[in-house]
Amino acid sequence: MNIKTPYIWENWKFIDWDDAKDHNLTHSLHYGTWVFEGIRFYPTSNWPKIFRLKEHIDRLFYSASVLELEIPFTKEEIIQACIDIVAKSWVEMGYLRPLVYYGTWKMGLYPKWAKVNTVISAWNWGKYLADRPIDVKISKYKRMHPETADMNAKVSGGYYNNVLVSLEVHKEGFDEGLLLDYEGYIAEGPGENIFFIKDNKLFTPALWTILPWITRATIMQIAKEKLGIDTEKAKILPENLKDFDEAFFVGTAAEVTPIWSITYNSEKINFKSWEKDSTSNKIKDVYMNIVYGRDWEYSDWLS
Ligand code: PMP
Repeated sequence: MNIKTPYIWENWKFIDWDDAKDHNLTHSLHYGTWVFEGIRFYPTSNWPKIFRLKEHIDRLFYSASVLELEIPFTKEEIIQACIDIVAKSWVEMGYLRPLVYYGTWKMGLYPKWAKVNTVISAWNWGKYLADRPIDVKISKYKRMHPETADMNAKVSGGYYNNVLVSLEVHKEGFDEGLLLDYEGYIAEGPGENIFFIKDNKLFTPALWTILPWITRATIMQIAKEKLGIDTEKAKILPENLKDFDEAFFVGTAAEVTPIWSITYNSEKINFKSWEKDSTSNKIKDVYMNIVYGRDWEYSDWLS
């Protein structure tokens, strides 16, 4: 993965990639007090286009508000900065990473008075998960209890939970992990939401113990509008996984990734998501057509 591009956008300036530096005594480095977004852009017949940029920036501002980070720019300014950094990066297809964080001049947990920094970078990024049906394991770590932190915000400190899951499942040879919530119901992947399919209907965990918002909502909308498939919010126990025909992960980075198997307590449950004419693959095709700008009905989602 080559993450080096000519510029980084920092507090309204474009700086050379090599000049992007921060002090060791940066508040967020010590306490996980930065908020971030992951946004994809794709080549289209008419310039690279950023998918659902506005919604990502809405979430960035929401996450910042949770930590009382005051972003000294408007949403429109950040949206324009994202567009500008893609244009200046000479990358056609990749990932945008806006980051807002408590910087220097303050130590101790109370973050106020630390300088707030806003940084946006864009780099070339291909597939996040393997480009084949994947093997998933239910992690020994649970998703954080929704009363321990705001689950709707994308805050770096909370990602400690997700990193532990990744370390655990990769060590055991799985492609990705799956977290249960504090009650033992299926919640989400460490960087993805999850859907199951049975009798041509989608099932997905309800909001509360998962990161809500962008790809999950996109999938529910396009499954209904393009394929006539409804979604039911469901509480799913690992013991009930056998009831489903298919399963797939969704997320900005993961896009739509059909799941081959889920392992729980050494038992492996297989799904038909990988079959050529599976519903998971149909949904994936609809999604990829939209992000590559090949479906004009959804061109409003592209910037
Ligand atoms: N859950 C978690 C924990 C995530 O980190 C992500 C990636 N942002 C997702 C779900 C998927 O969210 P989105 O579709 O909004 O990118």
